[in-house]
Amino acid sequence: MENRTSKPRILSGMRPTGKLHLGHYTGALENWVRLQNDYENFHLVADWHVLTTDYEHPQRIWPNTYEMVLDWLAAGIDPNQSLIFRQSQILEHAELHLMLSMLVSFGRLQRNPTFKEQIRDLGLEDEYSYGHIGYPVLQAADILLYKGNYVPVGEDQVPHIELSRELVRRFHFIYCQDRAPIFPEPLPMLTAFARLPGLDRRRMSKSLGNTILLSDSEQEIRQKLRSAITDEQKVRKNDPGHPEICPVFSYQQKFNPNQVKKIEMDCRSGALGCVDCKKWAGDAILSFLSPMQEKRKEIQNQPNFVEDVLSTGEQKARTIARDTMSEVREVMGFQKIITYEI
Ligand code: ATP
Ligand code: MG
Repeated sequence: MENRTSKPRILSGMRPTGKLHLGHYTGALENWVRLQNDYENFHLVADWHVLTTDYEHPQRIWPNTYEMVLDWLAAGIDPNQSLIFRQSQILEHAELHLMLSMLVSFGRLQRNPTFKEQIRDLGLEDEYSYGHIGYPVLQAADILLYKGNYVPVGEDQVPHIELSRELVRRFHFIYCQDRAPIFPEPLPMLTAFARLPGLDRRRMSKSLGNTILLSDSEQEIRQKLRSAITDEQKVRKNDPGHPEICPVFSYQQKFNPNQVKKIEMDCRSGALGCVDCKKWAGDAILSFLSPMQEKRKEIQNQPNFVEDVLSTGEQKARTIARDTMSEVREVMGFQKIITYEI
């Protein structure tokens, strides 16, 4: 059996869709980094979840995994403190997913607001797959296998954690009536920027093409900001602006906290135009990203670094997953073969 420390456990993952954007950072990654001293952190590459949108492109899985893990490490995840592993390398995720899938109704999954939003954004209507609707059930398995207490995620993921909590209660009600519960009920952990807007004001998201990447060059960042939608009513520089609807103002709030009060006042009064505001936002984002980008290069130059981090993480995660599954199999009636006396 594993030796669990007294620190509460964090379990949170991301789908490997390539290089990360600012929304991934402000919504989740920032908390992962900040909390790794006080919590026991587990971070999984959700490379089965990625199949919901990318199953036709097997050649993308490894490069996207590599780029994402590189971003995690560059942002400050310390692999000596935090476990990093791929979902696909620990088959127990599939086994627990199957068991949990029996405990939730199809209707409940169809009512999931995140599912509805995705189906609408991807234009899938009646074309969504079995895997797509079961996405949060697999996610529950990811969390429960490691008995995660907290799940630092962006706002879109909160309904999924709620489903995990329901599954825990249902599981215990059925299988643990006369014994100690197996799983904690996981809680979401949100940051102040749990829904960072993209350059077009919708949620920043890779599939919407409205992102700034953590690894974008200065030229890319400046160019992207120039194209950002601000406040349509602020046509000329001196027109009064409405920062509350402007994505560039959100970036000022997050990345330029010392100047944000003055920026807000001057935007509202008309003293500050969008061209200058975008330039300052660019300066702030660049100085925020620059140490990360340096670190990214350093790690990239170390051969097999990412591969070794994954392989170490996978060995440790596998042991824990196996222990949990032997408890689950036992309460669900799947013991090893025993002699049956008539
Ligand atoms: P995208 O939504 O860009 O396609 P993804 O679906 O590939 O990203 P996920 O694994 O769903 O990636 O997201 C990883 C984490 O980042 C999740 O916790 C999610 O809530 C968070 N996140 C993603 N976009 C944003 C955003 N714009 N603001 C805050 N958090 C975000
Ligand atoms: Mg997403």
